[in-house]
Amino acid sequence: MPVVLQEILKTIAVMGALAVALGLMLAVAAKYLEVKIDPRIEAVNKMLPGANCGACGCAGCADLAKALVTGKIDKISACRVSKPDARAKIKEYLDQTPGPDGNIAKVTI
Ligand code: SF4
Repeated sequence: MPVVLQEILKTIAVMGALAVALGLMLAVAAKYLEVKIDPRIEAVNKMLPGANCGACGCAGCADLAKALVTGKIDKISACRVSKPDARAKIKEYLDQTPGPDGNIAKVTI
């Protein structure tokens, strides 16, 4: 086998082994360094108008959703754009859905 071909095959083997090792390291890091996000935040965010107007005093709808779920803000009416039926739906959802820690977010319409 020519020397050039041997060098090419050696390089491919080293690069392949490196790719597998780095892939495994990323898989382990993703498993153990995962940031757990309360799924209620995304659910409440979807129930908000999505205007991202900032009238609630938050940076946007996702920020208000997080504030409602974490208890930083307890009035759903902080969102001035939302309609009463949407507020009632959010309250019903949060009253019935515990977070990952088992706690219920206490909110008012
Ligand atoms: S007031 Fe309502 S629509 Fe506007 S950013 Fe806040 S949650 Fe979104």
